[in-house]
Amino acid sequence: MTHYYSGRSGDSFTDATLHTDAECCPGPVRPLAESTAESLTDTNYCPDCAGGDDEPEEPEQNRDVAQLIELGSCPWCEKDGFESVGRHASAAHPNEWQDYRDD
Ligand SMILES: [Zn+2]
Ligand SMILES: [Zn+2]
Repeated sequence: MTHYYSGRSGDSFTDATLHTDAECCPGPVRPLAESTAESLTDTNYCPDCAGGDDEPEEPEQNRDVAQLIELGSCPWCEKDGFESVGRHASAAHPNEWQDYRDD
């Protein structure tokens, strides 16, 4: 896929934000061949059109913990069927619970 960046001929694109949508790219728009984009070691993709990182994603592990808690399962001793995982975890796994609450 061709990418676009804002710059003039001869401008460096190594620090430029790469867009997949030319309309999204502030002018002057220059196309960037895919092979060139791939050769860059440090690419900044536009979060709006190119799926770049806007905000860091939640770490995978934390997401699982949150999911288990929502389902009434304790992620730290793998018991389930809790009405309130929080009440159980704050008593049985205070450190882990605190860590989870802090994140
Ligand atoms: Zn864009
Ligand atoms: Zn537990």
